[in-house]
Amino acid sequence: MQDVIRLLPESLANQIAAGEVVQRPASVVKELLENSVDAGSANITLIVKDAGKTLIQVIDDGKGMSETDARMSFERHATSKITSTDDLFAIHTFGFRGEALASIAAVSQVEMKTRREDDEMGTLIEVEGGERKEQEPVSVPVGTSIAVKNLFFNIPARRKFLKSNPVEMKHIIDEFQRVALVNPEISMTLYQDDNEVYNLRAGKMAKRIISIFGRSHQEQLFPCQEDLEVMSVNGYIGKPESAKKTRGEQFFFVNGRFIKHSYLHHAVMTAYEGLLPDSTYPFYMLNIQVDPKDVDVNVHPTKTEVKFTDERTLYAIVSAAVKQALASYGVAPSIDFGV
Ligand code: ADP
Ligand code: MG
Repeated sequence: MQDVIRLLPESLANQIAAGEVVQRPASVVKELLENSVDAGSANITLIVKDAGKTLIQVIDDGKGMSETDARMSFERHATSKITSTDDLFAIHTFGFRGEALASIAAVSQVEMKTRREDDEMGTLIEVEGGERKEQEPVSVPVGTSIAVKNLFFNIPARRKFLKSNPVEMKHIIDEFQRVALVNPEISMTLYQDDNEVYNLRAGKMAKRIISIFGRSHQEQLFPCQEDLEVMSVNGYIGKPESAKKTRGEQFFFVNGRFIKHSYLHHAVMTAYEGLLPDSTYPFYMLNIQVDPKDVDVNVHPTKTEVKFTDERTLYAIVSAAVKQALASYGVAPSIDFGV
């Protein structure tokens, strides 16, 4: 009898791996935006057509790539961001797996144009279903433009299971907002089918929150800040009376990375106890800065879940920070100190 085990062809392995990273158009948006932030961009433009099903393009003015790096960026486990196990426990960038571009390119048609400041010519690369089609020098501005066309064109079953355009667009806007919220110093623009949806100019965090969520937030925000040696918390919280019945305006970031964390959410809600109208949720946007070695972002491939070394202490700090912010703006419940 013959042996039967074979290594999968690389393009098939990439397609399978892509399933983890690329669930829907919004996953592509997240990865591309994060790469642009990691590249030190001052301006990022996102162009979306047909809720990302036909086109997702991100144009940045970041540091760009050399010709070789541009080619390497589509290889799996190719990254400029970590080199050793030590780095894995001290992540300072969004990316680190070196999987995103390889995965995206495995399930779409990608056109990348990129140039570094010191290079006279840039590079154009086209990859389709993981196969490199084209690579040539081009004259382009400094930075990187990546256009991802016809997502899942080669996996009809996945394409068929994409949700309606409004649903997919909502996910895209969520990702865009998260990146925009925590990077107010970056100007960010979003076009949806040729209409400008957001045009966010660089500025302060409060201004960014207002330009994303609307003027009604202007009078409704309190700064919330707590600086300790081991960690800091800073951001904005909403007045209790402006809390909404629907969720969706609650944001935690850890070292600039959006996370979902029900335990920390509870910490905030505890601080608001007795202040909120029934079943309402206050706005909050809190960025927690901790030593990267105290947070493990490696637990989930899409990286919205993280593990902290000391969750209890963090809970107490977050809760105290929110309580104090509420108190210093005179909305704390009256506390009887017994004097
Ligand atoms: P990761 O971000 O995990 O390193 P990616 O697949 O997202 O993996 O990207 C691979 C590499 O391509 C990055 O490490 C980076 O060097 C380069 N790269 C990707 N996008 C950009 C960009 N917009 N500007 C500059 N370099 C980029
Ligand atoms: Mg990346």
